[in-house]
Amino acid sequence: MEQFMYFMPTKLYVGENCVIKNQEVLKQFGKKAMLVTGRTSAKKNGAEADVRKALEAVGIDYIIFDEIMENPDTETIIKGGAIGREAGVDFVIGIGGGSPMDASKAIGVLIYHKTATEETLYYDVTAKSIPVIAIPTTAGTGSETTPYSIVTVHADKTKRSIAPKIFATVSFLDVRYMESLSTKILNDTAIDALTHLIESYLCRNSNFFSQQLVEMGLRIFVECMEELKTETTTTETKEKLLLASCVAGFAIAQTGTSLPHSLGYFLTYEKGVAHGKANGILLKAYLELFPKTDESVAHLLKLLRMETLQDLQQFLEDVLHITETFTEEDVLDYTKRAFTTPEKMRTFPYGEEGATEEEVRRLYAKSFGVE
Ligand code: NAP
Ligand code: FE
Repeated sequence: MEQFMYFMPTKLYVGENCVIKNQEVLKQFGKKAMLVTGRTSAKKNGAEADVRKALEAVGIDYIIFDEIMENPDTETIIKGGAIGREAGVDFVIGIGGGSPMDASKAIGVLIYHKTATEETLYYDVTAKSIPVIAIPTTAGTGSETTPYSIVTVHADKTKRSIAPKIFATVSFLDVRYMESLSTKILNDTAIDALTHLIESYLCRNSNFFSQQLVEMGLRIFVECMEELKTETTTTETKEKLLLASCVAGFAIAQTGTSLPHSLGYFLTYEKGVAHGKANGILLKAYLELFPKTDESVAHLLKLLRMETLQDLQQFLEDVLHITETFTEEDVLDYTKRAFTTPEKMRTFPYGEEGATEEEVRRLYAKSFGVE
């Protein structure tokens, strides 16, 4: 067997009301917390109220930074870091989708290093963070169990990972916070989790454990597919999606993601396509890059109880309602920009340098229907 390392340091609490039930856990992190949230959802879905109640019950002071937008940008992260430093907070609690959870990790780094700058965030792999607690309210990114934090960099017109790897110390998973999700956000984020599973399985770094985790995640995910399609997800199914997304996080924490993720960032930056949907738009053409002799794609289809890639595409179209249009210029532009991070292209397991420029061009062209 190949050599690999496995590391997953996040303590998880799962179940209804788990924040309040386990509020004592918060005491170990200090006297003052910073809640990092989006503008409205954490207030509406009850997550922020639960955290405030728990902190008050154990006598921890807190401030709230609720300015995180979707695909948070560097400027907002820097602002949050300055506010947290000034307030002298001991730990951060990211509540929301991937955007606030990722932001809380980057803000945690800026608070830990008193003189940290943008340079620290993007280049210092040894940087550390004050403790981060994550509370997902979407079921897609798995940020609660991954060490990644993705930030929009306007200067580069794309999104990139911060350099240090920051795992949440504790994550709380409570399906009640998902009840307020619109079908669109629920579906887009579910496809993010699905692409994490598939990309992890197929990427150059996958290993025995990560593949087992993917299989487990897909087994949970298939049980949700019909309800996603018919837009009738019950609470029980939402909980399964939350767990599938968390397991997908376990997998990509070990392997990273692959082409749909790195190529999808331009769709999000340039056209505002939701992150999960962007991955979904690129998924079929990505899978078509694999040679017919590679059995892993067929194995994944089998786990999804599908016969062909066209079945997968049909499922994606039913769930995502893809209406976005792209041009040939977009294909050429995004292909060129993709190669500014060649390390991402190397996650494709064929070829010495991974995916070639021609393969990436073809992937975009097929996905956009402009071949
Ligand atoms: P998001 O950008 O965090 O949130 C999308 C929208 O959903 C926001 O409008 C948000 O409202 C709303 N929302 C969140 N929870 C809700 C709820 N329970 N009820 C109603 N509305 C709710 O979406 P996301 O897809 O979860 O996260 C995407 C980000 O995560 C991207 O930046 C992506 O690159 C990143 N990501 C990270 C990882 C990782 O490993 N760290 C992996 C994949 C993706 P508010 O703004 O009001 O909160
Ligand atoms: Fe993702």
